[in-house]
Amino acid sequence: MKDGSVRLLTADAKGRIFASPRLAPAGMKAGVFFRLSPENLIRLPAGSQLFRLPERRPVGCDPETGSFVTTSDAFAVAAFAAPGYTLTHNAAYAEDPKAGPLPLFSYGACAEYKGEFYTAAVKVDTDRRHDSTLIDMGKVKKNIEKFKKIFGKNRLVRHLAGCAVVYGCPNAQNFFLRRYEAPLPVSPSCNAACAGCISYQSGAIHCSQPRIKFVPTPEEIAGIALFHIGHVKDPILSFGQGCEGEPLLQGKTIERAIRLIRMESGNGTININTNGSRPKTLERLFDAGLDAARISLNSAQERYYSAYYRPQNYSFKDVMDSVKTVKAKGGFVSLNYLTMPGFTDSRKEIGSLVSLIARLRIDMIQWRNLNYDPLLYFKKLRVPGRESADTAGIAEEMDRLKRRFPKLMMGYFNPSKEKFSLRAAASPRR
Ligand code: SF4
Repeated sequence: MKDGSVRLLTADAKGRIFASPRLAPAGMKAGVFFRLSPENLIRLPAGSQLFRLPERRPVGCDPETGSFVTTSDAFAVAAFAAPGYTLTHNAAYAEDPKAGPLPLFSYGACAEYKGEFYTAAVKVDTDRRHDSTLIDMGKVKKNIEKFKKIFGKNRLVRHLAGCAVVYGCPNAQNFFLRRYEAPLPVSPSCNAACAGCISYQSGAIHCSQPRIKFVPTPEEIAGIALFHIGHVKDPILSFGQGCEGEPLLQGKTIERAIRLIRMESGNGTININTNGSRPKTLERLFDAGLDAARISLNSAQERYYSAYYRPQNYSFKDVMDSVKTVKAKGGFVSLNYLTMPGFTDSRKEIGSLVSLIARLRIDMIQWRNLNYDPLLYFKKLRVPGRESADTAGIAEEMDRLKRRFPKLMMGYFNPSKEKFSLRAAASPRR
């Protein structure tokens, strides 16, 4: 790729996307612009999307002077990278004076080179379980009808059918395709109020997937789980989905469901995606047969965690205690590490993450792009400029972690116990 031929992308009012005739692409971290070099860019992965940003003007780099230029008669363009890819730079833009918050997506920098699209991201997982180009919606819909007959009155199957068809949830789609990870949503409520919660918002931002309205019975949950275990290679069952609140608030139901599943089968990985607010509940779930927990964090620093999660009746310490509980029970613990360029790769955050991994013996980091307005994020967290100005780069951060913790798994998706047990067997315990 020749540096001088890479172009910034812009859009017109109809959403048509053009390569700028003159400007080179720029990326943004914490409101600061960077010229993107070819090393920062990868070809836009299959399953990604480009979109026009409303009320935002594109910022590119003048290749002759190196200065950053705002184009006032066009709209900025951003890339939503396919799952498995983590953004290193946000799209560079200037907000119009009365710009509202952006919807709940991630906004990667993007560019054009020789007629192809590129984005600023790194590949973190080879698994293609959420690749929309591999999901046959005709088959999903056909199987939904079959599953409705098989499961009769099971309300969870009907709920998942809506997730698969109306909200495009890849886990629900894969469940009906009998593969990968079956979603088991259970909780209509939550004890946090995350700024970027996709299932509940009370202000100007729209949530993208409403919460489940009922608590399924343990029998409804176990019915689906056992069917999935019986039909899928390396099956994973996951409590804690985008269409619900916090699963630990329904600990008794989950505990009974796990016991029902484990009475019938020891196969399959039972996982919970959680905010980790209730370590005691988590302990009971591991006693019942839970294998793994993925605990969400936007930051390894308490004040930024609390500013984003706004926990209502728990604290950062409870979350840390949950990690300890998983380790004490011999379970596998991942961090669902919500990543924002300029924050996640700030040296202060990296230092805090390194010490957290070392202290708590984290098994895996799942590098998830945080779906939130990039500029609003820094305002909400009140990150001082000196912190966000001192960044190492997301790719460099990952390399540093790999060197410091050679046994730490990195990826994007929950692994099956076959996968994480193999890894544990191959390496002595830390
Ligand atoms: S913990 Fe999950 S469900 Fe609860 S507010 Fe945060 S994102 Fe939403």
